[in-house]
Amino acid sequence: MSYLISIIVPCYNEEESLPLFYDVIVKQAELMKNKFDTDFEFIFVNDGSRDNTLDIIKSLSQKDERVKYISFSRNFGKEAAMYAGMKSASGDFTAIMDADLQDPPSLLEEMYRYITEENYDCVATRRTTRKGEPHIRSFFARCFYKLINKISKANIVDGARDFRLMTRQMVGAILEMTEYNRFSKGIFGWVGFETKWLEYENTKRVAGETKWSFWKLFLYSLDGIIAFSTVPLAISSVIGFLLCIVAFVLIITIIVKTLLFGDPVAGYPSLVCIICFLSGIQLFCFGILGQYLSKTYLETKHRPIYIIKETNTIGDK
Ligand code: UDP
Ligand code: MG
Repeated sequence: MSYLISIIVPCYNEEESLPLFYDVIVKQAELMKNKFDTDFEFIFVNDGSRDNTLDIIKSLSQKDERVKYISFSRNFGKEAAMYAGMKSASGDFTAIMDADLQDPPSLLEEMYRYITEENYDCVATRRTTRKGEPHIRSFFARCFYKLINKISKANIVDGARDFRLMTRQMVGAILEMTEYNRFSKGIFGWVGFETKWLEYENTKRVAGETKWSFWKLFLYSLDGIIAFSTVPLAISSVIGFLLCIVAFVLIITIIVKTLLFGDPVAGYPSLVCIICFLSGIQLFCFGILGQYLSKTYLETKHRPIYIIKETNTIGDK
């Protein structure tokens, strides 16, 4: 039986890497066609690129009918691009790949084998090294994974990439998660299913630059925590409770001291410190609450996750 594999490629300003990527993936497709008789479709999602990415994709689609494209009205982010791609994927199996060849297409063969021969629902990849990355970034990344796995039920694997091959059933489950604040690493873990992990060493992108600054990654990690854990909310209640106990003990001490020795203490400096400390904690806890509230606010608006300007896929205009 011949299967159809959909390859989803989110592209944001990838004019330099795209032609290279296309050459490699087409060779891989040919190889797998010969070996397993699999067919392919390539879904390029242009995430509001400001360079010639869309023109390149369009010219690819003219010469190769397996190439489909979806072009957004602006930059909606990789999460939105992956979602749009999965929505229009019609393959029995669907893979998500970066356009910069950091996800080696040669792994597809092994992934396909695991899924068809060993009945996994998903074959995912994680990189074992973070070579070529600033040390400070690796350090924070490691802390983030430790933290989020402690405070969330979704199993989020350190170094996991978005590069994975999934069955239709799993893609369907992911599509059912229609939330606006999408944190895929969490969503993949949350839906469950049998996942086989393949490991490989980090490779540098073939061309162009990474779209992730340190600040963007930091905000993304906060989004992840808020999307998949409510522990920060509980922390603010615990801090509040502990402070009540401290205050109670202090009050008793002061009353006893005043009754026994009178009241010789000048209170101004200590009062200022206490007020600063407590208002700091209060604002911090308000901040946490605010984060959840703002996410809830955005979710309740039910805004579309992306807006398509142009596409050659049917049924998803
Ligand atoms: N990407 C996207 N929208 C964005 C940012 C990135 O579609 O807003 C795509 C990008 O074109 C690439 C993939 O997501 O195909 C991964 O991006 P990048 O290589 O910059 O991330 P890194 O590999 O450094 O984590
Ligand atoms: Mg990359």
